[in-house]
Amino acid sequence: MRPFQYLEPVNLVEACSLLSERKEEAKIIAGGQSLLPILKQRLIAPQYIISIKYLSDLEYITAVQDSIKIGALTTHRAVETSFLIKERCPMLAEMEAVLAFVQVRNWGTLGGSLCHADPAGDPAAALIALGAKVRATSERGIREIPLGDFFVDYLETVLEPDEILTEIEVPYLAPHTGAAYVKEAIRFGDFPIISVAAVVTLDKDVVKEARIALAAAGKTPIQAKKTETTIVGEKVTAEVLDEVGKVIAEEIEPTSDVVASADYKREVAKVITRKAVSRAIERAR
Ligand SMILES: Cc1cc2nc3c(=O)[nH]c(=O)nc-3n(C[C@H](O)[C@H](O)[C@H](O)COP(=O)(O)OP(=O)(O)OC[C@H]3O[C@@H](n4cnc5c(N)ncnc54)[C@H](O)[C@@H]3O)c2cc1C
Repeated sequence: MRPFQYLEPVNLVEACSLLSERKEEAKIIAGGQSLLPILKQRLIAPQYIISIKYLSDLEYITAVQDSIKIGALTTHRAVETSFLIKERCPMLAEMEAVLAFVQVRNWGTLGGSLCHADPAGDPAAALIALGAKVRATSERGIREIPLGDFFVDYLETVLEPDEILTEIEVPYLAPHTGAAYVKEAIRFGDFPIISVAAVVTLDKDVVKEARIALAAAGKTPIQAKKTETTIVGEKVTAEVLDEVGKVIAEEIEPTSDVVASADYKREVAKVITRKAVSRAIERAR
């Protein structure tokens, strides 16, 4: 491996300055759970590694008026065990509880997961369904990006080379809203074959709003907008759920890989999208 210089800024201002001077020659490291494997495989060879792991200002979970703000360096384990998250946004804790193993969750950060932009990453699907937005900081200022616009391709985001992801903001669920995360994996702790996050708002028994997002269903995490329209304005019956399964299988674009064939993934998506939507509706009631 080509030697790299390891830099440890003491605050965000210094981190932004180091990154802005080096841009593409540098890579940020947070928990290292995705970066270290790709460095070891020599898929990338940056000249500089800038560690932000100890910038404790970026590690927080705070309630504001109608949303929760999560610092990008907050670990998966901190999100999973936060009382505030469990009370206000339980689907996030539900998702974190099935992400990898506790050792990975103790090191890996929510921001690192989003910036790595693995289409099979669990947090992105859950956060897109929840309507989250993120903030990126550079010497040029702070930029706000809806998470649905953050991912552009496989392992690629809209972040500029001098930007650091600093915050994730998740709105509180509206009244009469339920949310559920369903993941299908070969073994507990594995990346998903497919996973689905569903957030449903009811008006009496009729679906007023729905957001459905999936991991491992395309080259980025995706929001299944066509499938959402099959339930909005409907009272969800077994027939409507059959239609949900049919539409989701057509809408996603999974690829065949060592884990499963694309056809199998479509079948899994049918089953677990129905399950996630039904569970979200039960919770909304
Ligand atoms: C054994 C194992 C099992 C796993 N299983 C799962 C699973 O089931 N589901 C799942 O979703 N994930 C899984 N993961 C992935 C893991 O969740 C992520 O690797 C981890 O959360 C990434 O966060 P990190 O802090 O370690 O990021 P790092 O590895 O430090 O960084 C990842 C990438 O993001 C960039 N980056 C990090 N933070 C920032 C920032 N704030 N601003 C800008 N760029 C940044 C880095 O430059 C790098 O390119 C698994 C990982 C391992 C090792």
